[in-house]
Amino acid sequence: MGPPGAGKGTQAKILAEKYNLLHLSTGDILRSEIQKKTVTGLEAQSYMDAGNLVPDTVMLSMMESTLTELKNGGIILDGFPRTVPQAKGLNKIFEKLNSKIDYVLNIHVQDTILIKRLIERAQNSGRKDDTEEVIINRQQVYTKLTAPLIDFYNNEIIHINGDGSINQVTQHILEKLQ
Ligand code: AMP
Repeated sequence: MGPPGAGKGTQAKILAEKYNLLHLSTGDILRSEIQKKTVTGLEAQSYMDAGNLVPDTVMLSMMESTLTELKNGGIILDGFPRTVPQAKGLNKIFEKLNSKIDYVLNIHVQDTILIKRLIERAQNSGRKDDTEEVIINRQQVYTKLTAPLIDFYNNEIIHINGDGSINQVTQHILEKLQ
């Protein structure tokens, strides 16, 4: 977990490789559904373009089928759950699948650094949701709907200082996991 620009995707990829986990990014899955013009993609597009969250019901049914189809093995979830109802729904899915969450990592980054990173990313990513107006909306959505998950996962959360370079942040995570 972490606000947009915290480096969730970057660190998730590194950890997936190191620990042989499947990296599941809901943002990437949704972008691929949009490209394939599926029903989920068509439903999600306007929310994503505006920097709003795709409705919980859509996310939960997408993730239930994705997680159910997977064989046993470790997964690193990136960008999901993003609301308390999603987290409750995920618990129910994992109960059905006889699976569980081992760790919740929350990457903290100072606001000024976040904005700088997002502006840099906007120049290179070509993502429609990387414009200034949408970036501001995504930060507000994070504060209102996603930040409450920090309390929800209070017992299992591991806080990571995400201000440094990619390498430094990876080192923080590895130290905490050990
Ligand atoms: P990301 O690539 O994680 O930054 O996600 C990009 C966009 O996809 C978000 O701004 C949302 O519109 C949508 N999205 C990704 N994951 C979720 C989720 N768990 N719940 C709702 N919307 C999501």
